[in-house]
Amino acid sequence: MTATDTHCPYCALQCGMTLTPEIPRVKLEPRDFPVNKGGLCAKGFTAADLLDHRDRLLSPLVRKEPGNRLSPLREATWDEALTLITEAITTSQREHGRDSVGAFGGGGLTNEKAYALGKFVRVALKSASIDYNGRFCMSSAATAANRALGIDRGLPFPLEDVAGARTVLLVGANPADAMPPSMQYLDAGREVGARHIVVDPRRTTTAAGAHLHLQPLPGTDLALANGLLHIAIREGHLDEDYIRTRTTGFDAVRAATNSYWPERVERLTGVPETRLRETVRLLATHGPAMILTARGAEQHSNGTDTAQAYLNLALALGLVGKPFSGYGTITGQGNGQGGREHGQKADQLPGYRKLDDPAARAHVAAVWGVDQDELPRPGLSAYEMLDRLGTDGGVRVLMVLASNIAVSAPHSNHIRGRLEALDFLVVSDIFRSETAELADVVLPTAQWAEEEGTMTNLEGRVLRRKRALAPPPDVRTDLEMLAALAGRLGRFESSDPRTVFDELRRASAGGIADYQGITYERIEREDGVFWPCPAEDHPGTPRLFADGFPTADGRARFFAVHHRDPAEMPDRQYPYVLTTGRNMQHYQSGNQTRRVKALTVALPEPRAEIHPDLARRHGIADGDLVELRSRRGAAVLRARLSDGIRPDTVFAPFHWPGANALTNPALDPHSRMPAFKACAIAIHRHERGTD
Ligand code: SF4
Repeated sequence: MTATDTHCPYCALQCGMTLTPEIPRVKLEPRDFPVNKGGLCAKGFTAADLLDHRDRLLSPLVRKEPGNRLSPLREATWDEALTLITEAITTSQREHGRDSVGAFGGGGLTNEKAYALGKFVRVALKSASIDYNGRFCMSSAATAANRALGIDRGLPFPLEDVAGARTVLLVGANPADAMPPSMQYLDAGREVGARHIVVDPRRTTTAAGAHLHLQPLPGTDLALANGLLHIAIREGHLDEDYIRTRTTGFDAVRAATNSYWPERVERLTGVPETRLRETVRLLATHGPAMILTARGAEQHSNGTDTAQAYLNLALALGLVGKPFSGYGTITGQGNGQGGREHGQKADQLPGYRKLDDPAARAHVAAVWGVDQDELPRPGLSAYEMLDRLGTDGGVRVLMVLASNIAVSAPHSNHIRGRLEALDFLVVSDIFRSETAELADVVLPTAQWAEEEGTMTNLEGRVLRRKRALAPPPDVRTDLEMLAALAGRLGRFESSDPRTVFDELRRASAGGIADYQGITYERIEREDGVFWPCPAEDHPGTPRLFADGFPTADGRARFFAVHHRDPAEMPDRQYPYVLTTGRNMQHYQSGNQTRRVKALTVALPEPRAEIHPDLARRHGIADGDLVELRSRRGAAVLRARLSDGIRPDTVFAPFHWPGANALTNPALDPHSRMPAFKACAIAIHRHERGTD
């Protein structure tokens, strides 16, 4: 049997692995790829378990009684399913306008699929209604990086550079649990004297191994960053030459941070002044230094400004664009990076172009062979679109690809109601997810090992996902599904991944995320190619900013930002803060990992992490069921007592239905990111058997 080199289907590390079809199962082995260097986590090691899982969708499903979602789903032919979808689309657009049909994509789609979905909606449906679940992940850091640096590539350097940094400030990131093979770079740095500082309300596995752990109240990371910059200014640690020659706007930031004196920041965040000063000392004097943020800092209603505050700090210390140094954001989803570059975002065209930019519209319209005036204008962001589903003026027919909105959207009970209010819901998935259970039509899609495509990992390295085996007979790839639907709507689209990628290359040419010079062959030969790569003889760009920034004047931009209280503060009725996040064993909404035996044995159910002091106050013992309640809903979880979490904060993982019933959909004004990471809750011991 032939072995195929490919990549893990889960997170943005995109670890290399080799698949060998064997009877009865596929053999999966780690591969010595530059990112994971032979490492895999438990999720990656068990990924092949899903290929022949008994829950696998093997044919399209439609409702026994069309239009009645209470009637059971039954198997159908592709022709029947596609006919129902086409009728729903044409009826809705005739009666309610083009934008009444929309799509919701995902950060796990290959570049080809994300590109094809964006094109399908703009060209075949001629609709403005498209966004994707990356809006719930990377949008705040992306908005801040675009604003400050002129480009959003999560890590502007290869991951291996982390090993060369002598100080690393990790803000709201827990790579030890989320992407364990990445820890080899932090470990390598530590072995030669690197100091790591982790900012997290919980003593996570990553925080436990760090030199310093700063434990702020969720939602105060911006105040912390401004406080660090305040100290850096007062103690004379600025890189004045760098600020003068490579940046603009620092005077306003200097003035803005005046009021963030250490005692005030200690009061706001709960982080002792001594730790603030030690952090600044390390960043400024124990270089090269690096600042990395992740969702803990970014998934807030002020997430963009929070990421900006850490960018301000990195720029003021002169870190960005120097070896083993700089600012980065750690992308989470498998193709979270590529998925936000090629057009499934409401305001975006391929190549990270803006949909409201006339030159961008003209370029992409020419590649697509359409009149630029026919391209729709930017649509609504993810939560705003979901919030209006089924209403007058909202989307009434929705196609969902690679996303489990019913579990992963904030205020999920409300969003579930909106999904139920749709005239027609189509879900493409590999399993009957909680969202698929609500659908009129469910389409079975190919898994990662059964299709060709490219992914762009957290470093901006474009990789090849290769087909190791054929999908089951009645399962199609999303490219085939989109091409078939486009054909029924009167437009030819290719379903061949290489053809789609070559078109993506042309559409991205000259854009910020320029893939023009990246070919399948080069990716193969070079173990991935870093964008921007404008020509086939261009080497790609592993490291950005050494010579300047892709802004109008070539300089990075400071922006003055200020602390705001989280959108919802604790009060008498809801006295604690809920923060959500990941467990090591599971991924995203758990639609895949909750079906892997080894992972569910290791962690069968969600655990609410509660400080013993808080637990004592409410008579809660380790292992009790507790009810967490916010203004939007309630969830019952088993308690895990831990003195590693703040006594005023409760942590709940989002891999199961429940946590997002509580979360707050208050949106960041710039990125439209919901406030996943801080909302006010009450907690009660739950009587067993009464749920
Ligand atoms: Fe897969 Fe991420 Fe685990 Fe690597 S770290 S094996 S990419 S889930």
